[in-house]
Amino acid sequence: MKTAGLREFAKENDLTSCRTYVFGYYKNYLIQVSEAYGAKIIRLTVNDISDEKKQTLTDSLKNKENEIGFTDSIVELNQIIVSISETFRASKKEKIQKVVDFLVEFALEKNLKTPKGCIKCKNENINTSAYNLDRAVHFYCDFCETKVKDELSEIKREYYRQEKYYAKGLLGALLYSLPVILSWVILEVYLERVASLNAMLAGFLSVKGYQKFGGVLGPYTKWILIAVNILIVFASVTASIFYLLVDSGASLAKAFDAIENNAEVISIYRQSLRLGFGMSIIVWIYLLFLYNSMIKFSKLKKVKTL
Ligand SMILES: [Zn+2]
Repeated sequence: MKTAGLREFAKENDLTSCRTYVFGYYKNYLIQVSEAYGAKIIRLTVNDISDEKKQTLTDSLKNKENEIGFTDSIVELNQIIVSISETFRASKKEKIQKVVDFLVEFALEKNLKTPKGCIKCKNENINTSAYNLDRAVHFYCDFCETKVKDELSEIKREYYRQEKYYAKGLLGALLYSLPVILSWVILEVYLERVASLNAMLAGFLSVKGYQKFGGVLGPYTKWILIAVNILIVFASVTASIFYLLVDSGASLAKAFDAIENNAEVISIYRQSLRLGFGMSIIVWIYLLFLYNSMIKFSKLKKVKTL
């Protein structure tokens, strides 16, 4: 959602409005102002900036930060990006206007222009459409749109290919969480239900082990860790029941038989599994919804205007 200051700024300068940002041509420069968490991000699209020039531009921008009132600046290949921090209140349109005007002046002075046509192939006489890539608006021709999409899928495929890192992570997750089986058996003997808290401990340790062994953070990570958790809980509960049976004098064969046929033992076994997996749910929710949200792949999307 856009704040009033940004909406007014867009209206006054006849910019195109999207859900969380506005963009358009202003004094022949393509500008974009986006809402971010506690900040406005202003982007100015320019022709390719060489690496040496990037540093000079960054330094000159840094010197102007306090005077003009922006907080951070980054110079990329085709963009100059600055942010206005909004700790206590949203920026008014005058403030946004001041920073945008400064940026346009700055670009003019440094002889930077917004290229016409497609930003990738540099063809000026070609139809282009606006796309959003990593929160920035770019104009691409149809051909380059396909090309960029292919490049992005290749990055994703390359990431998915790192299977050996999954194996390493799996090994780490197992090694770190296996000792939980022992602690579960001990707790089951003395504290019974408290033992199921070990399900959470196992979850925590498997994540630690996964990372320590260099497991990759990918689309399969959460499933590997959930599988390890299920395995540990299952093994722990089974080991505990066995231990209790053998401890009370049953032979291994008798213990096997009791787990399969003795109604009372089966009922205790099931209850322990329920308790264990009940605690595991917290671990699974974390893995399913939080842990995996840490990986993000860039996507190219057609700009949707309001
Ligand atoms: Zn192109």
